[in-house]
Amino acid sequence: MNAVAARDSHGPRMQPKPGRISEHKPAIEEVHILWITGGLGCDGDSVSITAASQPSLEDVMLGAIPGLPKVHLHNPVLAYTVGDEFMAPFHKAARGELDNFVLVLEGSIPNEKISGDGYWAAYGTDPQTGNPITIPEWLDRLTPKALAVVTAGTCAAYGGIHAMKGNATGCMGVADYLGWDWKSKAGLPIVNVPGCPVQPDNFMETLLYLLRQLAGLAPMIPIDEAGRPKWLFEKTVHEGCDRAGYFEQGDFTHEYGSPKCLVKIGCWGPVVQCNVPKRGWMAGIGGCPNVGGICIGCTMPGFPDKFMPFMDPPPGSTLSSNLIKPYGALIRALRPLTNATLNAEPKWRHNRPNLTTGYQPPQ
Ligand code: SF4
Ligand code: SF4
Repeated sequence: MNAVAARDSHGPRMQPKPGRISEHKPAIEEVHILWITGGLGCDGDSVSITAASQPSLEDVMLGAIPGLPKVHLHNPVLAYTVGDEFMAPFHKAARGELDNFVLVLEGSIPNEKISGDGYWAAYGTDPQTGNPITIPEWLDRLTPKALAVVTAGTCAAYGGIHAMKGNATGCMGVADYLGWDWKSKAGLPIVNVPGCPVQPDNFMETLLYLLRQLAGLAPMIPIDEAGRPKWLFEKTVHEGCDRAGYFEQGDFTHEYGSPKCLVKIGCWGPVVQCNVPKRGWMAGIGGCPNVGGICIGCTMPGFPDKFMPFMDPPPGSTLSSNLIKPYGALIRALRPLTNATLNAEPKWRHNRPNLTTGYQPPQ
């Protein structure tokens, strides 16, 4: 059993003493983040994390967070190096010469064993053969040596748009490729942070958690059956939506540009697990339905096939919105009465036309 797994089996002893966190010596002092964007995708997740602030990429990279290992990021979208120089740490890791690394996958995994001849996506070339190295080949080479495997965005997590019915690429998510019971050499399961793209702070907070776990400062990361960090994905969009009050009052819009509930124009929020309406998109601002966009379920393993056609009311919503309509109409009629009462001060206050306070108004 390695250092990380050994610490996991002694959960309570991993907790730092209050006030002494900066004196903690990480179990692992240096970690490389090997980030492969070569799957089928748009690099949108790499772009997205540059907006994170809880924590920011800079905070993690520059050692501003006490107790974390020193972090080296190797991401082609954010790197200063190119070509062989950029690829060197990936080859080093594949040769088993890079001890501590976390593998981040962005983009769907095109599986040539399913799709047939040729290849759909590659990342660098093999120094020996000069041939492009496909993404499944990178997974085969690197995952047995990684401390943790994390997916950034829905494409890498579950296949996403590229894995839609009828696709020619054999695309799939990382867990579909490696197996859902896969564990890293440190004993960690695949951690999925879905979203199209991933919400910046959701990804950075998950990475922070894993780095703290590798440092011996946190217990095993809690994930749900779809591999998502539980604390980020256990609630529905609807439960955190700014428009939920309108739903409860049966007040639905049939057009864009209204502040009312969007369910009749295709919002899947009531059955989608995502914290974006609560968290906002950047610095707490935004969050799809909050700002007028229907939820299309982009954090869900069934995305996009099970949510199409977008814009049509979700099938289940017809029942729930019709059931709530009479209740909502009654509530809407009664609430102004209560509201009028609450808008008046209690009768024992001095709020009558004739002043009783002794104050002499100027003549
Ligand atoms: S807009 Fe969507 S998430 Fe928000 S209250 Fe309506 S159905 Fe729920
Ligand atoms: S609210 Fe819906 S569409 Fe928006 S990020 Fe969350 S799951 Fe995706």
